[in-house]
Amino acid sequence: MTVAVVLFTADLRLHDHPPLRAALRAADEVVPLFVLDPGIRAVGFDPPNRQAFLADCLADLDAALRRRGGRLVLRSGPVPREVGRIAAECGAGDVHLAAGVTRYAHRREELVRKELRERGVGLHVHDAVINALAPGAVTPAGSDHFAVFTPYFRRWSDERLRDPLPAPRTVRVPAGVRGEPLPSRDRVPGTSPGLPVGGERAGRQRFAHWTRSGLAAYEERHDDLAGDGTSRLSPYLHFGALSPVELVQRARAYGGPGADAFVRQLCWRDFHHQVLAARPGASVRDYRTRNDRWRTQDEAADEITAWKEGRTGYPIVDAAMRQLRHEGWMHNRARLLAASFLTKTLYVDWRIGARHFLDLLVDGDIVNNQLNWQWAAGTGTDTRPNRVLNPVVQGKRYDAQGTYVRRWVPELRDVDAKAVHEPWRLPTAERARLDYPEPVIDLADGLARFQHARSRG
Ligand code: FAD
Repeated sequence: MTVAVVLFTADLRLHDHPPLRAALRAADEVVPLFVLDPGIRAVGFDPPNRQAFLADCLADLDAALRRRGGRLVLRSGPVPREVGRIAAECGAGDVHLAAGVTRYAHRREELVRKELRERGVGLHVHDAVINALAPGAVTPAGSDHFAVFTPYFRRWSDERLRDPLPAPRTVRVPAGVRGEPLPSRDRVPGTSPGLPVGGERAGRQRFAHWTRSGLAAYEERHDDLAGDGTSRLSPYLHFGALSPVELVQRARAYGGPGADAFVRQLCWRDFHHQVLAARPGASVRDYRTRNDRWRTQDEAADEITAWKEGRTGYPIVDAAMRQLRHEGWMHNRARLLAASFLTKTLYVDWRIGARHFLDLLVDGDIVNNQLNWQWAAGTGTDTRPNRVLNPVVQGKRYDAQGTYVRRWVPELRDVDAKAVHEPWRLPTAERARLDYPEPVIDLADGLARFQHARSRG
């Protein structure tokens, strides 16, 4: 009887899962393994929202495996040690794993390889499981990665992706493999009240529903803050409950401008993956330095607190920050506005904002979060690094009626569309009745400081 182990990481699904497919083909029995890694807790990368969503994903994966005659084996401890132990306990000859992108994932892979080599067990690392196209699959002449999105998108679009794999019908797990009880979402304190339900089943339902109701109009609606017309699939992609290859293929089959625009957004994920895979230091250091002397936590403590609490006095920014706290998720346009405001208008270090996002976002992801923050701060791949988004102009453009603001900032519930993005224009008496703060900064002052800083750089 041959046995293989599949180590699940950021690929918590059964559909379109090449490591599982390969293991099932090569061995009679398979151990589907997930290891709760204390190293992730040690660096504070498992805040409540992602812990709860992960618990849902693991429970759902276990249930899906049980329907096929198997189960998920959960262990906790250092990943290489646990993988080595499991392989020894069940006499496994091979371990299958999805290739990761971050420095952390590469290090984990290296240590697992070393551990298994010492035990004479083979490690098979599968590409394009957590991304549609593996980092490095396409490169420009003379460089190891694309630094600009549009040429990457062209090359990415020309590549042929595999056909999505079906979920297996049966999974036989060796008898007697010891596992620990799965974590439960109910036991995680401090989650956002509007947190979505995790898991492959919930992700597939959301995608099916959104394909019927949102995909066709995605191109026109994706920037409409109140319309909330984006897919909200990011947490499922972050945990790998959905396969990016499958989403791209199914959207292409659907066709039309909405599907094209959606595929382009999925490509942004891969774009950032290939940047970070080539420049792992960009998760903490400027990808392109502009010699900023950012204001620190101590220098801007009150403004940073106002930003985090959604009390900057700029309604669109405050709505965005309150949505983040309530749902553990934020609309992309809102993320751009909130990040531009912190880094450019308040001239605060992007790492402070990125950390706060990572503490709350259910899709919080080192690759996409850090590189999008750098994009917004102008230290990343944006080809117009010094542009500053004006929150009033942007509010009027992307939330013309003020519906998004009123949804998240109830103090402005009764303010009409004309004043909702600039409540300071209301007559003094009316304004005094609103329990809403004065702007933390004059936009012209913020702009002048930023332009001066960048002109020195
Ligand atoms: P849709 O508009 O439906 O797009 C479909 C999918 O495409 C998304 O689920 C996502 O996987 C991908 N995508 C869309 N836009 C981007 C983008 N700019 N970069 C990379 N992938 C993209 N995304 C994360 O997944 N995790 C993060 O931690 C994260 N942090 C961000 C921080 C900032 C400051 C900014 C500006 C953006 C960040 N994004 C992050 C990207 C983007 O905002 C979210 O992926 C998107 O809002 C998720 O909503 P959706 O699933 O409805 O997206």
